[in-house]
Amino acid sequence: MKVIINEEECTGCEECVEAVDAVFAMTEDGELAKVKVDVVPPNLEDDVKEAADDCPAEAIIVED
Ligand code: SF4
Repeated sequence: MKVIINEEECTGCEECVEAVDAVFAMTEDGELAKVKVDVVPPNLEDDVKEAADDCPAEAIIVED
């Protein structure tokens, strides 16, 4: 499973980073979230899906 962040929509609220810091991080300027991994580790897939559901900007896109 892969995950990407729509930079046009992300507001930088940091919720996804707080929820799954092994996958998401803030960019250097702290304004947006970014994805740290090429492929989501299987044990974190459910957490990433939940973070996508919870993203207030609907900016997290999960790709199977
Ligand atoms: S939860 Fe959504 S809006 Fe907030 S930082 Fe993550 S991707 Fe951006």
